[in-house]
Amino acid sequence: MTPLEGEIRRIVAIDGPIPVDRYMALCLGHPQHGYYTTRDPLGAAGDFVTAPEVSQMFGELIGAWAATVWRQMGSPPNVRLVEMGPGRGTLMADALRAARALPEFYAALSVHLVETSPVLRALQEGTLANAGVPIAWHHALEEVPAGATIAVANEFVDALPISQFVKDRDGWHVRTIGVVDGKLAFLAAPDPMLNKSAADTTPVGTILERRYDRPVALLAGRIAQHGGAALIIDYGHTESGFGDTLQAVRGHAFTDPLEGPGEADLTAQVDFAAVVIWAQHQGAVTRGPIPQGEFLRRLGIEQRAARLKGSATPQQAADIDAAVTRLTAPDQMGELFKVLAIAAPKLGPLPGFDR
Ligand code: SAH
Repeated sequence: MTPLEGEIRRIVAIDGPIPVDRYMALCLGHPQHGYYTTRDPLGAAGDFVTAPEVSQMFGELIGAWAATVWRQMGSPPNVRLVEMGPGRGTLMADALRAARALPEFYAALSVHLVETSPVLRALQEGTLANAGVPIAWHHALEEVPAGATIAVANEFVDALPISQFVKDRDGWHVRTIGVVDGKLAFLAAPDPMLNKSAADTTPVGTILERRYDRPVALLAGRIAQHGGAALIIDYGHTESGFGDTLQAVRGHAFTDPLEGPGEADLTAQVDFAAVVIWAQHQGAVTRGPIPQGEFLRRLGIEQRAARLKGSATPQQAADIDAAVTRLTAPDQMGELFKVLAIAAPKLGPLPGFDR
């Protein structure tokens, strides 16, 4: 039994079964035993590989995107480049290298990294040690000083806790986790939170998910008020629907979300239709979501790859081609991953999007 499972069993013994969002928050962020608190999960030796870890091109294209958006904003003398959940700092390092091509932009930048994991923060400090721009770390977006903002969140929203609700004959119940026959098990709160209405014909057993929206809502509100834009990049679906998408990944394979809490990555699909609503409620506008493959092609990943291959060994050239395929092919990260932009209403058409 993992130390966190012991802790969760103690909590359940006192409080009773805990809702899925609390379980997810404990698994990922428990101050001693949380998944992100205790390790670097990224890379071949870790549990999963993210787009910036596949290729430097990903962060570089986002850096160029940010520079274009800064110009569209009227080239303000100060802009905050914010990253939510920066992992190893790879995306930011690659983006900053590309941003150097526009020295006025580089001079206007202050970088703000929102990161809860001490392990990853230490890695980010190493990766970005020679960036040559002011960099500040924060535990939450609330701590980032107000002002015009360009932001990116890659595989961040999927780690924000979700609540789940399950339909029974008498209505919708909060889905919980308790102990049954000595093992962690999914349960449902005994009383329905919404009594059954005659109009609700959802089949018994149907699951509905709702995600903790505060970090994204705050970001959208800041952008609406102070100007700028954000990219939300993640795996997920474009229309809201029913279904259980909670998944655990360990060592590049799926596992049971209730097995080894704190030692597997726990995520759930991003409901982009919901993110659009959060952003619009804050007065921001949205573009997309569009498939990641399409977005990267529109930003010029093929041309970037060709340039890199110009000075590459045959093996490096093959690696570059493989990375392009991995990031853009529909059967790899190209379709499942989507890109949504959140923008201030007065900003014009955004690079990579139709409008
Ligand atoms: N963006 C990186 C890492 C993705 S993993 C990449 O693409 O490689 C998720 C990241 O979000 C990690 O850095 C994790 O520590 C961070 N994270 C998870 N929950 C968070 C929260 N509530 N607040 C801030 N960061 C969080």
